[in-house]
Amino acid sequence: MLKLKPDVVKKSIYHISFNDLINRGIKNIIIDLDNTIVPWGDRHIPPELFEWVNTAREKGFKLCIVSNSGRERIQYFASRLNILAASKRGKPFLRAFKSAMRMIDGNRNNTAVVGDQIFTDILGGKRMKLYTILVEPISRKEFPGTKIMRLLEKTVVNRRLG
Ligand SMILES: [Mg+2]
Repeated sequence: MLKLKPDVVKKSIYHISFNDLINRGIKNIIIDLDNTIVPWGDRHIPPELFEWVNTAREKGFKLCIVSNSGRERIQYFASRLNILAASKRGKPFLRAFKSAMRMIDGNRNNTAVVGDQIFTDILGGKRMKLYTILVEPISRKEFPGTKIMRLLEKTVVNRRLG
């Protein structure tokens, strides 16, 4: 059960303190796509997301998307935001995170994982022994299978705990 508890819980990516991460020695952010930075199924990139990515870059962070979404969708966002995307998918399996770690040249001590799902983002990040940040899902719309996982999440993790 401990493996499922995120290190910290935030309302959204915009509530994450870059300075806190810097103080922890974190230089790389592995970031989920759907319902973490954009609503599920949506292709619009809001100006505040561009701004957030730019601020992260200015502060010296390397960002890499790790998503179970379709490759075309992942590339669409990675190229427009000008950030990396892991070549392998399949969270929470380690190969997805390992491919991201190689791309950003990250290690266990300097990399954080940000995502909205316990059983993919947080579990995967924990298995890699990375710093994990759970955010509230942006939209209630999501992949049907995710809805079932949400019910399970409720039984194992109190989101307020973090
Ligand atoms: Mg997600």
